[in-house]
Amino acid sequence: MAIPGYLIDQIRQSNNIVEVISGYLPLKKIGSNFKALCPFHQEKTPSFIVSPQKEIFHCFGCGEGGNVFNFLMKHEKISFIEAVERLAERAGISLPKDRASREESSRVSQERKSLFEINRHAADFFHRCLKNSISAQKAREYLNKRGLKEEVIDKFGLGYAPGSGRGLLEAAVNKGYSKELLEKAGLITFSEKRNDYRDQLFDRIIFPISDVQSRIIAFGGRVLGERLPKYLNSPETAVFYKGKILYALNLAKESIQKKNQIIILEGYTDVLTCHQFGVENSVATLGTALTRDHVSIISRYAEEVVIVYDADTAGVKAALRGLDLLIGSGLKVKVVALPQGTDPDDFLRSQGAEKFQREISQSLSLVDYRIKLVSQTTDLNTSEGKVAVVEEVLPTIARIKNLIEQKEEIKKLSRLISVDEETLLLELGRINRKTYQWQEPSYREELARDFRDPTSQQGVLKAEKGLVQVMINYPEEIETIRAEVTPEDFLINDLSRVVKVIYELYDKKKSIDPAIVMDRIYSEDLQFSAKVNQIIASLAIEEKKAEFSPGIVNALVNEVKTHKSEKKERKMREELASLADRGLPVQSEKIEKFQKLRKQLKGSKNERV
Ligand SMILES: [Zn+2]
Repeated sequence: MAIPGYLIDQIRQSNNIVEVISGYLPLKKIGSNFKALCPFHQEKTPSFIVSPQKEIFHCFGCGEGGNVFNFLMKHEKISFIEAVERLAERAGISLPKDRASREESSRVSQERKSLFEINRHAADFFHRCLKNSISAQKAREYLNKRGLKEEVIDKFGLGYAPGSGRGLLEAAVNKGYSKELLEKAGLITFSEKRNDYRDQLFDRIIFPISDVQSRIIAFGGRVLGERLPKYLNSPETAVFYKGKILYALNLAKESIQKKNQIIILEGYTDVLTCHQFGVENSVATLGTALTRDHVSIISRYAEEVVIVYDADTAGVKAALRGLDLLIGSGLKVKVVALPQGTDPDDFLRSQGAEKFQREISQSLSLVDYRIKLVSQTTDLNTSEGKVAVVEEVLPTIARIKNLIEQKEEIKKLSRLISVDEETLLLELGRINRKTYQWQEPSYREELARDFRDPTSQQGVLKAEKGLVQVMINYPEEIETIRAEVTPEDFLINDLSRVVKVIYELYDKKKSIDPAIVMDRIYSEDLQFSAKVNQIIASLAIEEKKAEFSPGIVNALVNEVKTHKSEKKERKMREELASLADRGLPVQSEKIEKFQKLRKQLKGSKNERV
């Protein structure tokens, strides 16, 4: 055991699971539990439950579950040890530092930590330059011209990267940071031409990019003057994945949740201006099309997505394809196209926030917007125009999850182009809906995979899970069960292991909280499947559904033992048959044993009926 059990208990108890998880996703209190949209699968209605009493989470949709360590492991893609270390740090608990193996496994999290730190340092440096440096005069003038107020500039931590190309490098090295770390963070690059390192971003206005927990993970730089590219981002690093980040989500998330609406813009300055004008539920992608990761993040915060484009340009049509992803995950998608040649920034400053909000509230649905685009270039009364519209919007309509909404869209389209609904529905059927939907392995399929053991008929699974469920939720029954059933009586290996841990805890007079059982399983055997903790979580949280009575315990005990005996009987029968086949002598003892077992089995089966 790398970290002593008592310390793991202490760390878990010091990290309230509700507080930790709500650092990642919005939780809503319902009764004694908390609910959220599951971060581990795509869904429209929340089936992700957090129980503060039991210190566990469980998703009824995808089956994911566990305690606070499991959540971190899964969400941050880190090991058990790393999760323990992070939560220890969060709670201010120090861990014994002498284990070489632990140091190795925490190397990655150390690296992430130093990347956050150097990024923070760089952001402070850029910000100070913008505020004080003489060479930043042009940058200050530019921001001033765009009407950005000082408080917004500070809130977003804007900065200026000096034109020398060595400003950050020198300042950071003077502070004792290594070039290696600066390079890992994407802040400096090696220039073959100069045979030396130089700043990645220079003579640019700097937009620090933060994750949802407000840790700085990268930088965007806008050029001053005509140099290309106009915008340049840091390269991807161990803490920065472009396709997973929405700019300013850390500042916008509260407003997004409150309004149940997220506004997605194209550029950094658009976001700043929106926030300055009080439209605080706005974010931007980092110059990429929407990815599945984006969609999954968005659906955790809001049900309605408003996409704002600068104008109805040709580029917009291509970008629209990405929006089908949003429809496919059950989000409401609206599109605002501002008048030709204006971006949100211009619009807000010339027309004001009220008119901007009106544009938002009058925005078209994605389907209507698509129709509008087609109608601008083709006549919808011609058969050519009708075909064009159908081709443009049916793939989007096919993705709408709500069948009533889908039907409505078909009806509208039918009226618009005077083609009857049946024909459109036929066309819709021809679109292979499957290719437009998320690929989700069902929970049942996964469970089936876990219990690949040949003996795993439904009955075994049900009985063994039932018994473990009783022990987790009604520890006072353990004494009775234990007298009858050993861990080896459980045919499903994972459950047998859980039972062993429960008995051990019971012997030590420890409480049998599901969260503790999970920790024991992990800390004793790191290879042991995370799936086991999911099973424990699901058994613990489904407790209310299971009606409990003492009679149930007896029935389950009998069933578990019977399954075990059946397996034994099968094995003995095979052995005896094989001996007979080969003409070998069979000991009479063996036959007696076999017959006794069969008799027992018959008896217990009669009992069950
Ligand atoms: Zn889920």
